[in-house]
Amino acid sequence: MTQELIDTLPMLRQGRGLVVAIDGPSGSGKSSVSREVARRLRLAYLDTGAMYRALTWYCLDQGIDLEDRAAVEQAAEELPLEISTSPLEEYVRVGGAEVTHAIREPAISAAVSTVATTLGARTELIRRQRELIEQHNRRIVVEGRDITTVVAPGAEVRMLLTASEEARLRRRGIQLGGTQNEQELAAQVTHRDAKDSTVVNFTQAADGVVTLDSSDLDFDGTVDAALAIVTKVINRD
Ligand code: C5P
Repeated sequence: MTQELIDTLPMLRQGRGLVVAIDGPSGSGKSSVSREVARRLRLAYLDTGAMYRALTWYCLDQGIDLEDRAAVEQAAEELPLEISTSPLEEYVRVGGAEVTHAIREPAISAAVSTVATTLGARTELIRRQRELIEQHNRRIVVEGRDITTVVAPGAEVRMLLTASEEARLRRRGIQLGGTQNEQELAAQVTHRDAKDSTVVNFTQAADGVVTLDSSDLDFDGTVDAALAIVTKVINRD
């Protein structure tokens, strides 16, 4: 991408909506790439996975049985959540407690799919996500699993960020066919994706969604490719 193009990125669709929806499995580099894309385009940024993680943290903190669907749904409605929508700072707070790092712990990663497959809880988090998009006048990068298809199917740009299983595990420091510990970690990651995909299809691009395969790209290469998709799709309209 030329410097001239890079300089004009923040001017894209100025004064109008620019929702960039990015879906993909875990380990595709989605969060870091989406945050950088938002920074370069001077857009707000929303990590919807962090919302599902925060709800999981809250349920566990309240001693809620995750199999009790009605209780999880009620927790979603009550969830006292504050989440950063700036790509320049990262924070997640639940009822004033700072949980930014706690929600990334393995115990949360292991439990989050159970919460995320509770349909009533999804309905509530999707409602909040749409509200946040409107609060930012529809100028925002939103990433998750169902953004291109459910949360914001009308987004100006819709992208599916994929990577081969090997690349996704490698980014998490796991070698395929490695030690027993690595094999267990690999099983956890693939198990989470398998469970998540029972409620949302994020492995294949829906109509109108552009696929970006990052298997052979580094971070900068993926950001450039994502920005190239944004400019191409916008200029086509
Ligand atoms: O993106 P991340 O891996 O942090 O997401 C954590 C979990 O949140 C996913 O494994 C999935 O269960 C759930 N999720 C979801 N829909 C989204 C984003 C995340 O179900 N839009």
